[in-house]
Amino acid sequence: MNCLFCKIIAGQIPSTKVYEDETVYAFRDINPQAPTHILVVPKAHIADCNGINAENSAVVAHIFEVISQLAEHEGLENGYRVISNCGPDGCQSVHHLHFHLLAGRYLQWPPG
Ligand code: AMP
Repeated sequence: MNCLFCKIIAGQIPSTKVYEDETVYAFRDINPQAPTHILVVPKAHIADCNGINAENSAVVAHIFEVISQLAEHEGLENGYRVISNCGPDGCQSVHHLHFHLLAGRYLQWPPG
């Protein structure tokens, strides 16, 4: 499959890994939008939030457990934001489900 994040998970494209287990991979965003910017992705290819269903949604719950562990490990006591962009209006650019973990500065709300 010609998917950037599938290639990163497979080790065909380098990444700065921060966490990996059987179903989840997390790595630093190449173009960070905050001092901490980590992408947390399911290893199984799911295109976007619309691809989450009863068969595969357990990995999403697990991703949020991983995010909580990462927040502790990265020392994000002051808070953070989790975002999943979906579709053109959501500004999704990579069509493999991913959750941005952003922290380390005050994050404006609402976002632009
Ligand atoms: P999105 O725009 O929500 O689809 O997010 C895709 C994210 O992937 C962007 O924040 C990019 O900076 C990031 N990205 C693209 N290519 C790479 C890469 N090779 N390694 C790490 N992050 C990447």
